[in-house]
Amino acid sequence: MLSESIEVLPGVGPKRAQNLQALGIVTIEDLLRYYPFRYEDIQEKNLLEINDQEKVTLKGVVTSPAVLNRYGYKKSRLQFRMMQDHAVFAVSFFNQPYLKDKVEVGEELAVYGKWDAKRKALNGMKILGSKQTEEFAPIYHVSKAVRQSTLVELIKVAFEKYGDQIEENLPNYLIEKYRLLPRAEAMVAMHFPKDPEASHQAKRRVVFEEFFLFQMRMQGLKEKDQSEKNGLAILYDVDRLKEFTNRLPFELTAAQKRVTNEICYDLRSPRHMQRLLQGDVGSGKTVVAAIALYATMTAGFQGALMVPTEILAQQHLESLLQLFDPLEVSVALLTGSTKTKARKAILAGLANGEIDVVIGTHALIQDDVTFQQLGLVITDEQHRFGVNQRKILREKGLKPDVLFMTATPIPRTLAITAYGEMDVSIIDQMPAGRIPVKTSWIKPNQLETTLDWARQELAQGHQMYVICPLIEESEALDVKNATEIYQHLQTVFAPDYEVALLHGKMKNQAKEAIMEEFKENKSQILVSTTVIEVGVNVPNATVMFIMDADRFGLAQLHQLRGRVGRGSEASYCILVASPKNEMGKERMKIMTETNNGFLLSEKDLELRGPGEVFGFRQSGLPQFVIGDLVNDATILEVAREEAKKVWQIHDWPMLPEFQALAKVVGVTDEETYFD
Ligand code: ADP
Ligand code: MG
Repeated sequence: MLSESIEVLPGVGPKRAQNLQALGIVTIEDLLRYYPFRYEDIQEKNLLEINDQEKVTLKGVVTSPAVLNRYGYKKSRLQFRMMQDHAVFAVSFFNQPYLKDKVEVGEELAVYGKWDAKRKALNGMKILGSKQTEEFAPIYHVSKAVRQSTLVELIKVAFEKYGDQIEENLPNYLIEKYRLLPRAEAMVAMHFPKDPEASHQAKRRVVFEEFFLFQMRMQGLKEKDQSEKNGLAILYDVDRLKEFTNRLPFELTAAQKRVTNEICYDLRSPRHMQRLLQGDVGSGKTVVAAIALYATMTAGFQGALMVPTEILAQQHLESLLQLFDPLEVSVALLTGSTKTKARKAILAGLANGEIDVVIGTHALIQDDVTFQQLGLVITDEQHRFGVNQRKILREKGLKPDVLFMTATPIPRTLAITAYGEMDVSIIDQMPAGRIPVKTSWIKPNQLETTLDWARQELAQGHQMYVICPLIEESEALDVKNATEIYQHLQTVFAPDYEVALLHGKMKNQAKEAIMEEFKENKSQILVSTTVIEVGVNVPNATVMFIMDADRFGLAQLHQLRGRVGRGSEASYCILVASPKNEMGKERMKIMTETNNGFLLSEKDLELRGPGEVFGFRQSGLPQFVIGDLVNDATILEVAREEAKKVWQIHDWPMLPEFQALAKVVGVTDEETYFD
């Protein structure tokens, strides 16, 4: 059986099994699916064409027995001759005595090494294939204890003995529709492709399978999560809601209307809402959240809005208080710095239902916080929350509907991977009248002249941010860096303008006081580490300097930039950076060229890879083995669509066509899957 331990293979004892296990290979199937990360392209280069010291792979027949000379401690030299098209050349290996066994007179061999043209000799580095005829030798990630050749031999034996047990797991119609290789064939060709095309076809099939199975599970979770028996029907008062939206100080954009409808539909429906609301900074998500919370309140349920920082919580509170009539909606703020007495009162209000809407930080998910009837949970900037924290909050209520808001536009491939079990609403439009922020990139030696220019903006009564980056995660260094910049700016601008400093080491109260002063224009220049990254709203600030901008990701820069351009005046973002490499330069350039957050996040993904984008690694992005979220994006989309279609088929796991699929996806009985 494929699920048997590799120890059933000849030549695999407990020791070797242990070594293989260190590579993640436990069962026969693991071994068969331990795919090479690349292939050695063995080209028969003509000896005369090779340059001196060039690294090449030469294939030929061994013509002399290998002679091993040992000298000194652990030093050795292995020498033999090979012939290629009647031309003979010498091969030597240093300090790899064990290779002697692989060299047999009369056998074909492929050796990778450095060519010494003068001596007509190859300084061998690796033996790629012995007794092999493949044009493409597989190269595996191996360890000291497991060699390439050992692995290849084991894989071959495993295919011989167990290959016929490999079952197809995709339904036939998909194999035909996308002209995919059958599973067993693809698995063999992943290891030992005959040519580049065979390798390509094998990979296409394996990637499709990987993405498709993943999406099948995601869609299954969605089915389960959102099924009617799990959700709440929040029957809000349509008339009151209409009245509320008519009272808003502005007309909603078409995009805001669309997402509001999507959310309201979910609220009413007994299905459990799990929706991701994406919208660029300033696109107006807060008011959409307010509408959803208001609707929830009219249905007699409570709502919670959870945010990552106290400043943001404070700001949301202010926004909501502006929108809500306090006599109609009772709103509370609960954070880590809420005083004990106030906290007690709020906890009581939440438990007895007097409080309709609570805004808070992580303090909301402490054990002693209980709700009378929690109907809706909204988290803002959700990528900062761990999956577990979201779950805890969700579990506080009777499966409240959940809306995740993010201002960080997530590339579609990541969104449908990391949030595949959710529905996605997108606000892809800015409120009318916004002037896009003008972004420029300067070198540090241009800083002084640019500060001179900024003086004009200040002279017009505007304010400015100066953002300092996080340095190697060390708060002490951040503070030092920010402090130095702060002191420098004081020498430049004081006493004409007030300069303030805000950093992560400050007490919350001090932070809030400084933010408050900046809001009230008591200070004009705010030097800050990235604590203001999310949520701060000071429309009078029209200039932002970002120091060492190349230390930030594109998405983060974009987010920071969103702090200016909030009013009706033209705004400027100045990136101060001297990136060391081309990629860094490219990133700075892109920032100056576009204000489209989605485009930037796609670029970020492309340039830095999925793990780096928005710290996704912590938040549980699945690691695909073969599939690549950037290069195989099209396959991912197709696989997702097909998975969705399967789940739309009534009782699909019962149909003969899907038997094998149901088994691997783990669906055997409608009631019991995914527990
Ligand atoms: P986000 O949370 O998406 O970054 P906000 O909700 O904070 O954006 O909105 C940014 C600003 O735009 C706020 O001052 C808000 O009052 C305003 N705003 C939101 N929607 C509209 C609209 N439809 N028309 C005009 N202004 C709007
Ligand atoms: Mg917001």
